[in-house]
Amino acid sequence: MSTTFDRIRRFLTEHAPSSPCLVIDLDAVADRYREVAAAFENARVCYAVKANPAPPVISTLVSAGASFDVASPAEIKLCLAAGADPESLSYGNPIKKPSAIEFAHNVGVREFTCDAEGDLDNIARFAPGAQVQVRLLVEAPDSVTPFGRKFGCVPRRATELLLRAVELGLEPTGVSFHVGSQQLDPAAWELAAAAAATVFTACAEQGTTLRRLNIGGGFGVSYDREAPSLAEYAGTVDASLRAHFGQPLPELVLEPGRAMVAEAGLIRAEVVLVARKSATDPARWVYLDIGRYNGLAETENEAIAYRFEPVDDTGTAEEEGPVIIAGPTCDGDDVLYQHTPYRLPLALRAGDQLDILATGAYTASYSSVAFNGIEPLPTYCITGGRLISAH
Ligand SMILES: *Cc1c(COP(=O)(O)O)cnc(C)c1O
Repeated sequence: MSTTFDRIRRFLTEHAPSSPCLVIDLDAVADRYREVAAAFENARVCYAVKANPAPPVISTLVSAGASFDVASPAEIKLCLAAGADPESLSYGNPIKKPSAIEFAHNVGVREFTCDAEGDLDNIARFAPGAQVQVRLLVEAPDSVTPFGRKFGCVPRRATELLLRAVELGLEPTGVSFHVGSQQLDPAAWELAAAAAATVFTACAEQGTTLRRLNIGGGFGVSYDREAPSLAEYAGTVDASLRAHFGQPLPELVLEPGRAMVAEAGLIRAEVVLVARKSATDPARWVYLDIGRYNGLAETENEAIAYRFEPVDDTGTAEEEGPVIIAGPTCDGDDVLYQHTPYRLPLALRAGDQLDILATGAYTASYSSVAFNGIEPLPTYCITGGRLISAH
């Protein structure tokens, strides 16, 4: 990981792009794909495009052999433009308009996820004969950024939908779930796999054999605390499949987003102002040129606690003090961290730069168009230490 950040910092030193910006090391993305594919042997790895849709990231993953989890016609176009085979795309968003289904079908997307009858009927009408998987609402321990109850349905409903898919001339393939993003408890997959197995059994009893289990994303990244390793996640998943499914085991699909790109990226930002609210205020307020609206959306509720490193060595730990970190906009919610205890150098001044580590996922893709006139977060992609695109 340090070598990734070293390469990115060398690029930043040489090119000094204006701040803030995100730099993605494509070599790290390709390496990460290979690690994931090796940890989950025989699984199909679909990259969840929303985590970072920069075109070079997608092209890198196409070349590496990845499949893709897409959520909209725009994400489909992006993947096709990057050279992806339409059959490698899985339309994973259960909330979609008929026009989106029709578009996907027309360009050759074959697999769709649904969790409700209305959407299933639309798939039958606008993507006749398609493969469908039904998303399960899983009771899992809370992840750092949970999905709540927005997606999925209970096992009985899932079974009904899969059987209905047969009647509608579709090809029901199996069950999907997502145990919540930045899920640090591998046991979540065990619970979800057990629930999915009940759907496989119920469908088999009605004469419909399911063959594919999609275990979603959610694999964690070590931001402020250590996340389980890929091997730990894979071990739990493998044991769960063996415990809950008969032979042959279902085909395994996973959809990592965060774990594929977070550690391939680093944001360089600048301090705009350092202030105290009163002479006795123990914490300084550090206002950055990046905040909630131009890249750091996942600081909402302080869910993700990124690591900050001053670019110039500004002293030892004793020369640090507590800070509240805030963004640059005129919005009272644009405060990044006021409860999470952060410390930064006492010598920190306006104009100093900070690196925000492991920020390749859910940063640029969440950046607003231009709230308060502040530009969306620019992304620079490098390979072999050289710039290949900026947007
Ligand atoms: C967002 C999303 C993912 C990726 O989740 P991560 O937590 O980033 O790994 C995978 N599958 C679906 C359906 C998603 O919506």
